[in-house]
Amino acid sequence: MPNKKVATSRDASVPAVAVIGAGISGLFAARTLADRGLNVKVFDKGRGLGGRMSTRRVDGKSCFDHGAQYFTARDPRFQSYVQSWMEQGVVAKWPDPQLDPAQKDQKDPAQKDPAQKDPAQKDPAQKIVVFKNGERTEQEDSNERFVGTPAMNSVCHHLAAGLDVRTATRIETVEPIHHGKNVAGRSIRLTDNEGNHVGDFDCLIVTAPAAQTAELLVNFPVLAAPISKVQMQPCWAVMASFEKPVGDDWVGAFIHDSIVTWAARNSTKPQRPNEREHLLIHAGHDWTAENWERDPVVVAEEVLREFWKSAGLDVQTPVHLQAHRWKYAIPIDPPAERYFFDAESMIVACGDWAGGPRVEGAFLSGMAAAERILDALQSVEFDDTTAPD
Ligand code: FAD
Repeated sequence: MPNKKVATSRDASVPAVAVIGAGISGLFAARTLADRGLNVKVFDKGRGLGGRMSTRRVDGKSCFDHGAQYFTARDPRFQSYVQSWMEQGVVAKWPDPQLDPAQKDQKDPAQKDPAQKDPAQKDPAQKIVVFKNGERTEQEDSNERFVGTPAMNSVCHHLAAGLDVRTATRIETVEPIHHGKNVAGRSIRLTDNEGNHVGDFDCLIVTAPAAQTAELLVNFPVLAAPISKVQMQPCWAVMASFEKPVGDDWVGAFIHDSIVTWAARNSTKPQRPNEREHLLIHAGHDWTAENWERDPVVVAEEVLREFWKSAGLDVQTPVHLQAHRWKYAIPIDPPAERYFFDAESMIVACGDWAGGPRVEGAFLSGMAAAERILDALQSVEFDDTTAPD
């Protein structure tokens, strides 16, 4: 075995919990458990935090939320967190119909006092519209939408503050070891893709997309079997920058009767760089699946061409054009259960594909998973004398 190290995570007096995935579900679960005094370590294969709430920065000037575009908050538990994140300046409304046009370029909108806003100064440009076959329409829409500030992943960074998060660490195997101290006298050993044992833990939360979670839990078929049935849809995301704005009276658009389904003027989101226009376009799930293996350069060009056609806007040449493919973007018919738990192994699996979908669903799933672990730990007696490996 190459470079086989054993890094123990044990403080013998406190249960050790590993979380695979630093998206919103994993980080909220980790935050909850760490705040309750547990010894928590988070692992993510990505270079940064956020998972599908990621932000891509290119050429030092452009910035795209290329996964989740915004989120809504309908559950009172999520609403209260969103409210507190707004107060702390890590979340803002987008679009904000009350935005004062004079303050639109302000670098830190968190500093402005919403009570000072004059309703007469509503910004007509802060609209989500519909494009179809070159025509633009407006639809009745009472949804309040939120984005992280200054980037979509800011919420995740906020949740991760003070946590032990190991990025660029892909967990490859999860296996039971039989001399541990959890409910069945076992522990869970994690090994990364370079063969390093990254730790032995009493409990594990897995938050990878369903298919990846099922693969990770191959040694725990009771969990893996139902999770492997959950399907997720793919999505090509195209990022394009322009010297000039592509519009001035809309910020986001649902696109109908086209291979593209959504476009957002990322530069209109609060606290984003806006010297250039940053347009983010999503292709439909079916088209993405049919065109999955194509060259990203060709995909980017075709998606952009379709956008101009559907929106009926003047074609511009991008100064930056790039495509990213998400294999597991959105779950199809996620099961009602908010998590899957196995008391014997003390493993819980969660994410937007369990009870979800979307950012709010992922958050609630992470919350439920953490509560399940806390409940389970109440009935477990830990043997503090077990020597760590
Ligand atoms: P993720 O964010 O996927 O986090 C899972 C993490 O696990 C990832 O960071 C991954 O790197 C990590 N991981 C996986 N395997 C391993 C491994 N073996 N080892 C270590 N780490 C691993 N939601 C909305 O609410 N509104 C939207 O507008 C919206 N639009 C979307 C558009 C696109 C293109 C996409 C992709 C998603 C969109 N979503 C939207 C969905 C939303 O982004 C997700 O529901 C939410 O972010 C999922 O969070 P999560 O924590 O469950 O999973």
